Amino acid sequence: MGSTSPNTTGKPIRCKAAIGRKAGEPLVIEEIEVAPPKAYEVRIKILCTSLCHSDITGWKMEAPIGVYPTIFGHEAIGVVESVGDYVEEVKEGDRVVPSFLANCNECIDCKSEKSNMCTKFQFRTGAGMPRDGTSRFIDSNGDVVHHFLSVSSFVEYTVVDIAHVVKISTEIALDKACLLSCGVSTGLGAAWKVADVQKDSTVAIFGLGVVGLMVAEGARLRGASKIIGVDMNPEKFKIGKKFGVTDFINPKDCSEKPIKEVIKEMTIGGADICFECIGLASVMNDAFTSCRWGWGKTIIIGVEMHGTPLSVSPYEVLWGKSITGSFFGGIKPKTDIPLLAKRYIDKELDWDEIITHEVGFQDINKAFDLLIEGKSLRCIIWMNK
Ligand code: NAD
Ligand code: ZN
Ligand code: ZN
Repeated sequence: MGSTSPNTTGKPIRCKAAIGRKAGEPLVIEEIEVAPPKAYEVRIKILCTSLCHSDITGWKMEAPIGVYPTIFGHEAIGVVESVGDYVEEVKEGDRVVPSFLANCNECIDCKSEKSNMCTKFQFRTGAGMPRDGTSRFIDSNGDVVHHFLSVSSFVEYTVVDIAHVVKISTEIALDKACLLSCGVSTGLGAAWKVADVQKDSTVAIFGLGVVGLMVAEGARLRGASKIIGVDMNPEKFKIGKKFGVTDFINPKDCSEKPIKEVIKEMTIGGADICFECIGLASVMNDAFTSCRWGWGKTIIIGVEMHGTPLSVSPYEVLWGKSITGSFFGGIKPKTDIPLLAKRYIDKELDWDEIITHEVGFQDINKAFDLLIEGKSLRCIIWMNK
């Protein structure tokens, strides 16, 4: 494992990384060299990371959309090892979570309450650092290894632009805080900031992974009267109840009646709000057709895994339904992640049961197997185990 002694500042660090060399193939643990941070960059010693479904979607992407070799991972927590010039917001030793969405606090979008889509550093999936497009990683042959989602956390040390770094309290346990880096914040934010779920509303959630379960928790805390969970894995029904899901539908049991009819019957005309938390265009359509005429809202959170276009009936739009997306739950990373952490510390919120497994870094491929097989919600990958 690479050293954290102060004399690493300004020097490259040799450490271990789990590298994706080919789409869909197991990651390979290799020694790499991590360059020191340039101006406005932070080098972070990753303490633990976890696996979100968006890593799986990225890891399955063939070239040219997927770039290889690459270091995946974007849900993580770490400690600042060193900072580049002009970085004042964090210093060596600070605990931080990376964020795949930038938050520069300067652009029109960062300054507006209406958006969390920073336009100074626009969202990017792969390749290099946000400011100069180059990589901070090279492998033992001296070849470039690419970044992923501006984070790349499946490595002992990573370099992240300060616009993607959020300082976080040390009062929240590492594994719990790690999930604020994506899944937990995305689900809660979608329920509160994007959908603005109101008391007594009816909600249908397609997909009860971490994102869907946290949408349910957000809806429960807002007093939704009915929270319908739709998932083809019956194992998810028990855990769903703990996060407020009141009714379950397994699409495999809906051979006689389309799912939209089942939901319309349960909600007398259609759910007020439907959330798609899977990433399939066909399910996005199911969600849209399951919400009610007049004011029904559909919130897309899932990242379409095959690039399939979404097609909805223009008549249903005329009938007053709306459809919108939600990136990172509409949260502004630098202000909202610390607020969510505070609510956890104050015991107003908890997502402990989301953590179903943990592995050491060497066993990172097990985390992939568990999520793909539907056996885990979040598997924490500890760098020092
Ligand atoms: P997950 O794999 O833990 O959960 C997905 C759930 O969907 C599973 O319970 C699975 O059984 C269920 N499912 C799969 N196919 C189904 C089908 N056809 N019908 C019914 N249920 C089905 O995933 P996750 O980590 O919770 O992520 C969920 C989605 O959200 C993914 O698409 C991910 O890429 C996306 N995501 C988006 C954002 C964002 O900012 N918009 C952030 C994080 C994750
Ligand atoms: Zn994610
Ligand atoms: Zn911005």
